[in-house]
Amino acid sequence: MADPDFSRTDSPDWDALLAAAWAARGNAHAPYSGFRVGAALLLRGGRIEAGCNVENAAYPLTVCAERNAIGAAVARGMRDGDPLALAIVTEAETLTPPCGGCRQVIAEFAERLPVLLANRTQRALHDSSDLLPQAFTGRNLHRKNEEPVQGV
Ligand SMILES: [Zn+2]
Repeated sequence: MADPDFSRTDSPDWDALLAAAWAARGNAHAPYSGFRVGAALLLRGGRIEAGCNVENAAYPLTVCAERNAIGAAVARGMRDGDPLALAIVTEAETLTPPCGGCRQVIAEFAERLPVLLANRTQRALHDSSDLLPQAFTGRNLHRKNEEPVQGV
C-alpha cells in the first residue's frame, strides 16, 4: 500500500480526514460564538481522531477543535511520530488557521505535519513548521541538562 499523499489539496487521501472533521464540527459546543470548528488527525496505521471546539461560559476555558483531537489521540495511545496529517474545517468565508496555542500543541507531537484548512469551497495546505517556525519543543528543555558552556 502506498504512503498517503498529502502534497496536494485535492488528493483523495484527504477525503476521510475531511469527512471526520466535518462530522466532529457538527458536534461543536459553540453557543457563545456560533463559530463551529472541526478537526481530524490521521495517525500512522490509519486511525483518525477527531475533535470539535468546546466553549465554556467562562470563556478562557474554551478548548479548540485541534487540541481536542490531539487530546483524544493521546488518550488512545498516540506517540511522537504517529501524526501524519491534520484537517481543520469551518463554514467561515475565510479559511481558519489554527490559533497560536494549537500551533504549539501540534509542534509537541509533530514538528512537520501537513495541515489542510478547508471550508465548503476552498482548501489550503500548510506545513505546520511554516505555521510555527522555530517552535519551542521538548528538545529545548533537554538542553538544560547539557553541560554549561565554559566562559559564559
Ligand atoms: Zn486553537
